[in-house]
Amino acid sequence: VAQPEWIDVERWLTHTVVRPGPEHERALSTAVERGMPPIEVQPTSGKLLQLLVRISGARRVLEIGTLAGFSTVWMAQALPEGGHLDTLEYLPEHAEVARENLAAAGLGDRVDVHVGPALATLPTLEGPYDFVFIDADKQNNSAYLEWAVRLGRPGTVVVVDNAVWEGSLLDPARDETNAPSIVAALELLGGPTFDATVIQTVGSKGWDGFALALVR
Ligand code: SAM
Repeated sequence: VAQPEWIDVERWLTHTVVRPGPEHERALSTAVERGMPPIEVQPTSGKLLQLLVRISGARRVLEIGTLAGFSTVWMAQALPEGGHLDTLEYLPEHAEVARENLAAAGLGDRVDVHVGPALATLPTLEGPYDFVFIDADKQNNSAYLEWAVRLGRPGTVVVVDNAVWEGSLLDPARDETNAPSIVAALELLGGPTFDATVIQTVGSKGWDGFALALVR
């Protein structure tokens, strides 16, 4: 559960350092207006994704889990001329809001929102992707990592959100639905296919973290 100081510090950092634009605010407010769950990344993480796409020079980005397109907007803004982002969303109503937000941000031409279960969409996509962000149903995290390798190349950057999940990775019985899959995915990231780390975070989303990896 988020402590008040974590939220205050995050708000200060967001306004002082990250400085989201109206296109980011729109993705947040439309999600609230349309009754979507507030489970997008925090603005500090959205900006981190944007910086990672720029630092890695990624031209082709794959996102699994779109929601209202908040993280999508941050990443798509980092694409160079001719770059492209494919984002995968299960729910048509989420995909519709995301498309509106991407169009309003002037990013509609460089992003495709694919509707359906990601495991059905992934076999229809062609790699190689330079950057993969995994943020959908945690039960499929290991399968998504396998797809990141299949659709990636050595050096593809992979980011997995919700890697700490309130510390439940130490006691997966606390969340039988998600924690065991989060642990299995972390074990995969620690294996021979990836070079990875996990950073713990606190903020408005509570105690969590993200994994950052390169495909070997
Ligand atoms: N990345 C978004 C952001 O930070 O703005 C947040 C994504 S939200 C945590 C997870 C999204 O994944 C939800 O919109 C949910 O409907 C979608 N989702 C859940 N299961 C899925 C699946 N099997 N395939 C594709 N999307 C799925």
